[in-house]
Amino acid sequence: MQTNLADFIRDTQEGQEADAILRKCVHCGFCTATCPTYQLLGDELDGPRGRIYLIKQVLEGKPATEKTQLHLDRCLTCRNCESTCPSGVNYGRLVDIGRGIVEKQVKRPFAQQLIRTALREILPRKQVFEPAMKLGQAVRPLLPRALQNKVPEARNPGRWPERVHARKMLLLDGCVQPAMSPNINAATARVLDALGVQLIVAPRAGCCGAIRYHLNDQDGGLDDMRSLCRARRENFCANQGSV
Ligand code: SF4
Ligand code: SF4
Repeated sequence: MQTNLADFIRDTQEGQEADAILRKCVHCGFCTATCPTYQLLGDELDGPRGRIYLIKQVLEGKPATEKTQLHLDRCLTCRNCESTCPSGVNYGRLVDIGRGIVEKQVKRPFAQQLIRTALREILPRKQVFEPAMKLGQAVRPLLPRALQNKVPEARNPGRWPERVHARKMLLLDGCVQPAMSPNINAATARVLDALGVQLIVAPRAGCCGAIRYHLNDQDGGLDDMRSLCRARRENFCANQGSV
């Protein structure tokens, strides 16, 4: 695909990266076949090819609009589209760059800003999210149906194996999942135990950064990723290299 990036981005690192990605795309549309949002909504702009085109327009200087933002917001960043792209287009990176730029150009309505800030600040903080989820589960029967659907019933995590194995694996506990579905990590630990591998939870690992990053707080997401790497390193040292 031919590109002609605007002055504001052309000579930046992100601009050069985006330009190289865009130039690989031949607009064949194979990727739309594996895009869940395209399958669901049937709109070209809710598929990878359409989104690539929207990002290209913004990078070439066309001002982003609320519509541009909406179609980029709807992308799940699942990167399934990359699996069917014959040209190896790194869509995931391109959409991150595009979203960052669109976020600076399009001001979100106040209510949306409020929700996004709440999600960004509450979800990655396990010490806040976990009690909030417990409270939600306790009053679940009294909640309106729309809210009930968002609060899963409380689950018993099940037994965590106590056997010690020479082979160990480090588990990043995560932020949201242990509160919503504590049974998943415990079940993983039991499966690995049966295979002779001990699962160890990395203390203080926190959020992997995906929540903030995908809510377009890219700096906050990167900070979370750095903390995670530090926790991972500390844990590795504490286990004397056995993990
Ligand atoms: S499959 Fe790849 S090359 Fe074809 S339109 Fe999609 S991203 Fe572009
Ligand atoms: S990342 Fe997922 S949702 Fe987004 S365009 Fe690709 S396949 Fe579709």
